[in-house]
This record gives sequence, structure tokens and C-alpha cells, in this order.
Amino acid sequence: MSRTAAPATMAATPKDYKSDIKPVWCPGCGDFAVLNAITKALAFLELPREAVAMITGIGCSSRIAAYTSVYGFHGVHGRALALAAGLKAARPELTVLAAGGDGDGLSIGGNHFIHACRRNMDLTYIIMDNEVYGMTKGQASPTTAPDWADGKLTPRGTGIRPFQPAGLALAAGASFIARGFTGDPNGLAKILVEAIRHPGFAFVHALSPCPTFRPEQMEWKRQVRGFDIEPTDDPVEAARRIQADDGMSIGVVYRNAYPVFRPGGAGGESGGESGGVRGGGSMAAIERELRL
Ligand code: SF4
Ligand code: MG
Repeated sequence: MSRTAAPATMAATPKDYKSDIKPVWCPGCGDFAVLNAITKALAFLELPREAVAMITGIGCSSRIAAYTSVYGFHGVHGRALALAAGLKAARPELTVLAAGGDGDGLSIGGNHFIHACRRNMDLTYIIMDNEVYGMTKGQASPTTAPDWADGKLTPRGTGIRPFQPAGLALAAGASFIARGFTGDPNGLAKILVEAIRHPGFAFVHALSPCPTFRPEQMEWKRQVRGFDIEPTDDPVEAARRIQADDGMSIGVVYRNAYPVFRPGGAGGESGGESGGVRGGGSMAAIERELRL
């Protein structure tokens, strides 16, 4: 993929973190704003592009890795977090972002999601949630309301209650939980800065409308509001806030200093610098140990 060169002596701008590949998303897709928010956050943090990796699964939103100029890997369906965890284990000095959609992350990838939450490696995971499978032309996903009857496979709705991603992350042990909205790209960028700085697994639930298959989501801009509270470190209080909410409040809801899991460490440690894997983290050492 072609990369745009950043000036060597000037501070990087959000544009420097974009590749020159033109996104193929539909006009008005929320994922454009997620791309802008990610590149803004990386520029604000002044992270060198070679120190960042973006790992994605499959789906419209998972194309995002190709649109950035950091290291990227467009993986297989639902496996972004498995790949991201492996990369972080092998290259603990990298800032590793994983991203994808609600179908990718909460259906086939659901098992990886809950275990990534409880494992608490130092990763940032962004789910771009539009409550639909967009790439395959509009089927119900794990976050679709039970009475949504416009999906070709579910003309009477699914009749199944949706996942509440923030509540799921809290129950599974995530140490940072936030919700952002693509109609507020600057707010989303601020959340991403906090998420990337957080030592541990940071989950960012990004409400990202699909105007093609869920045009009614264009109303979200009138429904979204900020959490008018500070983040809590009390999981009981966080659970109360998440359950009392209609899913339209945005901001950081929960942050805790759980031990960060570092493969090769003695059961994890809290905060601080990233540790290494056995054998010092070099690929040669890992290959020797695994006899590859
Ligand atoms: Fe975005 Fe929906 Fe188009 Fe996919 S189908 S690119 S999610 S608007
Ligand atoms: Mg989706």
C-alpha cells in the first residue's frame, strides 16, 4: 500500500496518518468520522507511525486499516483481537489498535472479545456499531433491536434481545469502557486519546451510523447526549449507569487499574511500562522457543 511521507522536521498532522487509498465507504457512512478521530488522536499523541499498528477483522468498518499509514493487518472475520494480542505479545513496544464492526466483534469475534476484556492486555479496541451487517447487505447483527424488520433474513425482526456492548465489556472485566459518536468526531478523538493512554484493555464503543441499510440512524445526532458524570472506578456503579442508560450517552464511563497482562510475566502487573515476552520479545527467540 502506498504511504504519504511525513515531513521529518515538522509535527505530524492527522493527514500524515492517512494512506492515499480512497475509502470505498458509502457517502455519509459513520466510519469516515472514526478514521478522522483515530488520525487526530494519533497526531495529538505524536506517535511515530512505525510505532503503531492497526489490526482489523472483516466488514465495512474493518477496511479502516488500509486507510491509515500506520502498520496494518486486515485479518479474518472476528479475529482482530486474537491477532492484536499476538502482535502485542511479540512487539510489546508497539501501540496496538484493533477495530471492526458489531457483527465482526460481537458475533464470530464475541469469544475473543470477552477474553480480551478479562485478559487486560495493553490494547485499544474500537467497535464501530451500526447494528447491522453492512458489507453483506443488511442483515441483523448482535446489536440489532429485536423488532427491526427491514433485514432480508428477518422480515419480522429477530425477536432476540441485543447485546449491550458496554455492559458486556464491564461484566467480562474490561478496565476502560467508553462510548463515542461519529457525529461528535472531536469528542471521539478525545476518548481515543484517553483509551490509547490507558494502561490495559480499553474498549471504545463508537456509534457509527450506516445510512445505506439503517437510514433511521441519521436521527442519532438528535438522540445522543454526554454522560454528565465523571468516569467511575466502581464496577457496581458503572453497571448501574450502563443499565440505566438507553445506549445513547457518550463519554468515558469506567476506568480501573487492573493488572495488565503481559505474556511471560508472573501473572501480570499493574500499569507502567509494557513488559516483554519470554526470550526478550525478539521474533528469533520466539521461533527458537516454538521450534519453528
Ligand atoms: Fe458504511 Fe453501511 Fe455503506 Fe457499509 S453499507 S460502507 S456500514 S454506509
Ligand atoms: Mg455493523
